Amino acid sequence: MDRATTRKWRPATQAVRAGTWRSEHGETSEALFLTSGYTYDDAQTVADRFAGEAEGMTYSRLQNPTVAMLEERIAVMEGAGACRAQASGMAAMTAALLCQLSAGDHCIAARAAFGSCRWLVDNLLPRFGIETSVIDSADDAAWEAAIRPNTKVFFFETPANPTLDVVDLQHVCDLARAHGITTVVDNAFASPALQRPMEFGADVVAYSATKLMDGQGRVLAGAVCGSEDWINDTLLPFQRNTGPNLAPFNAWVVMKGLETLSMRAHQQSRNAVALGEFLEPRILKAGGEMRHPGLPSHPRHELALRQMDATGPIFAFDVGTRERAFALLDALELIDLSNNIGDSRTLMCHPASTTHAGLTEEDRAEMGVSEGLLRINVGLEDVEDLREDLDRAMAAAGI
Ligand SMILES: *Cc1c(COP(=O)(O)O)cnc(C)c1O
Repeated sequence: MDRATTRKWRPATQAVRAGTWRSEHGETSEALFLTSGYTYDDAQTVADRFAGEAEGMTYSRLQNPTVAMLEERIAVMEGAGACRAQASGMAAMTAALLCQLSAGDHCIAARAAFGSCRWLVDNLLPRFGIETSVIDSADDAAWEAAIRPNTKVFFFETPANPTLDVVDLQHVCDLARAHGITTVVDNAFASPALQRPMEFGADVVAYSATKLMDGQGRVLAGAVCGSEDWINDTLLPFQRNTGPNLAPFNAWVVMKGLETLSMRAHQQSRNAVALGEFLEPRILKAGGEMRHPGLPSHPRHELALRQMDATGPIFAFDVGTRERAFALLDALELIDLSNNIGDSRTLMCHPASTTHAGLTEEDRAEMGVSEGLLRINVGLEDVEDLREDLDRAMAAAGI
């Protein structure tokens, strides 16, 4: 189906059908092309393809039919001109930043971020002469205050991992546009089913597709979306020559995940609100803190509802100490102790000792990753069973 048609479809149709290219066999489900190379009928065809004068595949580091189907489907769902799949979420973030930043440039990044994203900003970029500043991304004025004449990129997550800080997309994207700065949004916590940052003016949206897009804990995958020109002129020269490509099998798995993404993301969001409402009084009574964008107690609850279709499966809460947090985790029977998110199973982890263990204690404190903080990814189980499990585990932890 041509692009002009798939882009006019409504989201549910796009998720199931956009980017499907059937082979001569007319297969129902997308074909899995496990091939690294391609053969050609004659030498002129090869020459034309290498010169970019003829359509067609030449080598799977440059194009692969299964990967291309996934890329087209994500681009359509995101409302982006184009998308390129990556081997993992971190491959996507690395490519999105390194493809456009050079020595002497400045990048402003959100303080609250996935641990490896902070590592890129704090360690990798400075090694190549790229200046970086980290700011409180929920403080609207902090963005403008940090701009320098050489600021080229804004890099942030919303909601952020694991503190659930919410960034005002319209405000930050408008500010970037006014200063000629490129916004790179890590949209892993929402997925295009719940939030499409380009509707607010974001330039580049990067994904860990490992999370909600696969959603069933099977493969690592990533994606970078942008305008057709930005992907072709800025991302592709980097990607084609450095090779962070997604394997066709993993692309196929993610494509199957996209078919059910919207249903999963919305149901998991509903379950997360129900569980948050159950936990909040008990956590507050014990002197703890809730961080849930779907609850009115979140400082940016209204903003989250304005820019997201639903607030997502992930939230966090603070139980005061590491001992209590570990006691709660160890008493769980149904919920798994696991650091993945976006999965259809309910998973919990202690960020300070896992996803954010690589940061300094000082950085963790500044970001709000406290010793008593627990993160939960709410899955598709019956909420009653989850409530009973948490009820028992909290009692065991003295909460
Ligand atoms: C998981 C995650 C990543 C990294 O993705 P991988 O697929 O694990 O490499 C990046 N950003 C955020 C917000 C994440 O949650």
